[in-house]
Amino acid sequence: MNAAGPGSPAGLREANRRRVLDAVLAAGEPTQAGIAAATGLAPATVSNIVRQLVVAGRLTATTTVRGGRRVRAVRVVAPAGLVAGIDFGHRHVRVALARAADTVPRSAADGSPGPPVTLLAERDAALADGHGVDDGLETAAAMLDEALAAVDLEGSGLRGVGMGLPAPVDARSGAVGEPGILPGWVGVDAAERASSRLGVPVAVDNDALLGTLAEQAWGALAGVRDAIYLKLSDGVGAGLVLDGRPYRGRAGTAGEIGHVVVGDDAGGPIGGAGSTVCRCGNRGCLETWASTTTVVGLLEPLLGRPLTIAEVVERAHGGHAPSRRVLADTGGHVGRALGGLCSVLTPARVVVGGELAQAGALLLDPLHAALVRWALPGAAEGVEVVAARLGARAHVLGAVALAGELALGARG
Ligand SMILES: [Zn+2]
Repeated sequence: MNAAGPGSPAGLREANRRRVLDAVLAAGEPTQAGIAAATGLAPATVSNIVRQLVVAGRLTATTTVRGGRRVRAVRVVAPAGLVAGIDFGHRHVRVALARAADTVPRSAADGSPGPPVTLLAERDAALADGHGVDDGLETAAAMLDEALAAVDLEGSGLRGVGMGLPAPVDARSGAVGEPGILPGWVGVDAAERASSRLGVPVAVDNDALLGTLAEQAWGALAGVRDAIYLKLSDGVGAGLVLDGRPYRGRAGTAGEIGHVVVGDDAGGPIGGAGSTVCRCGNRGCLETWASTTTVVGLLEPLLGRPLTIAEVVERAHGGHAPSRRVLADTGGHVGRALGGLCSVLTPARVVVGGELAQAGALLLDPLHAALVRWALPGAAEGVEVVAARLGARAHVLGAVALAGELALGARG
């Protein structure tokens, strides 16, 4: 066995160190007793780990009085330098730059989220459909250089980059999966390739998970311990929050709700020969019912020209019955798939992001109704369904949050 493998003493120490850092980040300025309660670790173990992390310059511990008692309160030392987020879509790339210290989430005393991280610079560019890894990274690197030159903060080196891709990323091999949405990237170790091109540590996650991280840090998921973030765009994916932590699964690819097979209310065999073939090879996946491509595809023949989601939503608000019907049906399909997931995971909140979130109640109300209809009654009770707070910037902000974790040493 590897000396630092998961079950080894060194692996266990590392896992405990991360649990302590996570607990401090989640609570802001907890006491050592609070960390022990949150992690389940023995007070002596917490005390040892805190001492080591203070020596390493990662935490500060001060004696303070709370509730009339002297206690040791612990804080994360804000990292120096800059971090960047890069969000790749299959036809665009967005780059954002922030101070690493600003990425440490600061929730208010009542648990409400603080304002989103202040970005020092933000850049957008179009990419060719089906672009290759090298083209994509070259464009992103040029944008990043330009952003770094524009902020010109002396002595503030780039400490890390978080990168989002609209594809599953295997945490064991680093390889980008699933042909179809980013064909030029499949099989590539994206973090390794980006790190060698940019010359700094890079962490990669899929964009739904990054939306989850951003909404947890600065948006609609702050302080919610069990939740689902849904990304409804060209691709349909989810990020799961279980017991306060993003859940990546065995290989880092958890949350692919777009490939759950669903039917419609008209009957017919679910996933049968009449269902649309999905890019994953199955038939009748949620994504074939509820992606932006499907929504515009149902309406374009009626209107005789290409449409955007923003136009569909505008028409629906103006009373255009077919647009309203298509958005409502889309919400219904998503709610049906979510109903099963809610029965299994019993989340407190479902946050809907991605391009289709701009439909608001036109999509969210039918989604909620279908969720309630298809979930186990007790599991659906009280589940809130809300739109994401960070809108189109959620994924690049999540990439910045991921880079912040890298700079803090909480990941990587
Ligand atoms: Zn599929």
